[in-house]
Amino acid sequence: MGAVYDLEDENTTMTLKPVSGDTNLGMNDAITRRDFLGSTLLASGALLFKSITPAELLAAGATGAAADEFTGYGGVGEYSTSNGNTLAVLEAGHAIRDRVYDPLAKDVIDTRETYDCVIVGGGISGLAAALFFQRLSQRESQRQARPGMKCLVLENHPIFGGEAKQNEFLVDGKRLIAHQGSAIYQLHSPDSFIAQFYDSIGLKAQKLDYQNWAGPLPEMPLSQTPYEAVGLEHGQYGFWFGARFGQKPGMWLIDPLGKNLKGAPVSEATRTEWLRWLKSTPLQGDRFIHPKVEGDAISRYLDSITLEQHYMERFGLSRETVRTFLSPVEGGASGLGPDALSAYSDYAFEMLHPVTDEYSRDQMFPGGNTTIARLMLKSLIPGAINDPAINDASPGPDSVTAVTVNNVNFDALDIPQASARVRLSSTAISVQHDGKKGDGEPGKSDSVSICYLKDGKLYRVKGRSAVLAGGSWTTKHIVQDIPDSHRRAYAEFYRSPCLMANVALRNWRFLYKMGMSGCRWFEGTGNYMEVRKLALTGVSDSRISPDSPIVLSLKILYSFPGHSTEEQGDLGRAELLGTSFRDYERRIREQFTEMFGAYGFDAQRDIAGIILNRWGHAYLSPQPGFFFGREGRPAPREILRNAPFGRIAFANTDLAGAMDHRYSILEAQRAVQQLLAIFK
Ligand SMILES: Cc1cc2nc3c(=O)[nH]c(=O)nc-3n(C[C@H](O)[C@H](O)[C@H](O)COP(=O)(O)OP(=O)(O)OC[C@H]3O[C@@H](n4cnc5c(N)ncnc54)[C@H](O)[C@@H]3O)c2cc1C
Repeated sequence: MGAVYDLEDENTTMTLKPVSGDTNLGMNDAITRRDFLGSTLLASGALLFKSITPAELLAAGATGAAADEFTGYGGVGEYSTSNGNTLAVLEAGHAIRDRVYDPLAKDVIDTRETYDCVIVGGGISGLAAALFFQRLSQRESQRQARPGMKCLVLENHPIFGGEAKQNEFLVDGKRLIAHQGSAIYQLHSPDSFIAQFYDSIGLKAQKLDYQNWAGPLPEMPLSQTPYEAVGLEHGQYGFWFGARFGQKPGMWLIDPLGKNLKGAPVSEATRTEWLRWLKSTPLQGDRFIHPKVEGDAISRYLDSITLEQHYMERFGLSRETVRTFLSPVEGGASGLGPDALSAYSDYAFEMLHPVTDEYSRDQMFPGGNTTIARLMLKSLIPGAINDPAINDASPGPDSVTAVTVNNVNFDALDIPQASARVRLSSTAISVQHDGKKGDGEPGKSDSVSICYLKDGKLYRVKGRSAVLAGGSWTTKHIVQDIPDSHRRAYAEFYRSPCLMANVALRNWRFLYKMGMSGCRWFEGTGNYMEVRKLALTGVSDSRISPDSPIVLSLKILYSFPGHSTEEQGDLGRAELLGTSFRDYERRIREQFTEMFGAYGFDAQRDIAGIILNRWGHAYLSPQPGFFFGREGRPAPREILRNAPFGRIAFANTDLAGAMDHRYSILEAQRAVQQLLAIFK
């Protein structure tokens, strides 16, 4: 392999080129964040060039320099003002938490609008709720020969999608796209509910075509998603060990599986057990049987222990090995390391039964599940995405590619006559059943009042029903008359933060030269990265080579093993929210330089842009007992799912305990069906 990829030394430990100071790291360069530096940032002067405390940052407000220093560069295109939770979104959210609008002012602007359903949250779950409401209520209206029902979606970000959004960079004239959060989807058999849902929004061919290799250099197999790590099996993957392992400078172990971890700076005992994990070989005599249906005996057992305990039992791992080498990536789909999670959290995703034959690799659009959110919006409001076909070869305006790349027609989202409307940059702050004296009894009330904040003003709309699809972290604060049972249930939902840092590179020759398409490290900023070939959905290049500009996505999680699930989320959030854009940028540049500086990588030259997507409450991290309850008590999620509370039903993927857009859809369907029963 060394010869093939022009790698001089397979067990490469090389001296790093000394790089120090912001200038060498490229911190002060006009890269693709030129427009960002050129406007408010330069005007704000000194603020940029010193570290800023979280208190100073937040005190400085949602606009101007502080917003720039928190939110940072947002890229180009429609998503450029909506990279993760921007400072404006964060402030509106914290105003709810801190009850800033409680009691509600008398001068709330009454829009005099009444909808049959008001949906809070315009992520996949909220959009799915609107679609189900539109489709199912139409049938009900026809049956009852009454006018069609109407719904309104309130979404706090400037663009719909929730975690299913994308970033766009313009690098040397090429548009690069990457996901902000929700990335992959699995293949489902055509007769499954999920496949039929995809079909109904226009995603008829689930399997996508991807970029091909461009010569003349020998082809390196590439992953289709950030999680696939194909290089691990093919010998084109690296593990990096730095100061934590006594390595100064750090060292690479390339092809760690092929080399059976020989050369890794770890003890023989650690090597043996870690290898067992990496090669998926449980201890001899392992009798573990995967759960078959949710709630069977094995799933209940798994929910009574931590994922850490489960891995230790099955693979004979020490706690230290789990925490050093597995955490937080294993468990990463639930935001924290295995010590904080119910063991069942690893299996909850399997219960959706995707196709599992050898051709069923996970799929990903260039911007991840952004395309699925856009297809849903286009189905809900046909004029929402502009129609002109992208080129003559396009099969038509509703083709998946056209919906991916054509502009959103923002004016079409909130039209009075429409059966579904989507109101953006609107944060719901209060939801309450109506009554004669404003203190409605949920069981008897026939409407719900929803107040929302938009452009600094408070508005009120009414709904004959409401779906709360924004997630536990806001729902528990905004439903004013929420009963104690539901409040207690939501108090057991712990959400953890995540920073998705998208790093645009001018090329990835240095990785190719090292013989790697992906790598993993165990200290510093981030944990892994993966060069991925893109699905051919609106990308300008149908081929990829080491000379191609790419985006590497660093999913940064915050795990603090030894602390409770709740504490880990709080500690992580403090770090995520208290670190400026500039500090994160510096950390990323330093991490890359430390790892790749000796192999031809130059941060100043090679990094074309960085976008940070801060998700303060990214993941539901289910603790033991979350799924099936503890000590004979019902699981918290069941209290929220069993029945609507008056005219309010609850959705969002977190109710499933597994963060997955398919659960977002299923929870929305259940919530809408519960509410429509009220109208019968
Ligand atoms: C980093 C990351 C990676 C992921 N990767 C994948 C993946 O690869 N595949 C996959 O299937 N899933 C993935 N997920 C899971 C993801 O949660 C789901 O796929 C899905 O996007 C969630 O949709 P949702 O509507 O349930 O929640 P969200 O996407 O969170 O949508 C809720 C929306 O409601 C808004 N909102 C909340 N409160 C209010 C309020 N009071 N007023 C107005 N609006 C409000 C929120 O800001 C948000 O926009 C990932 C999640 C994260 C965080």
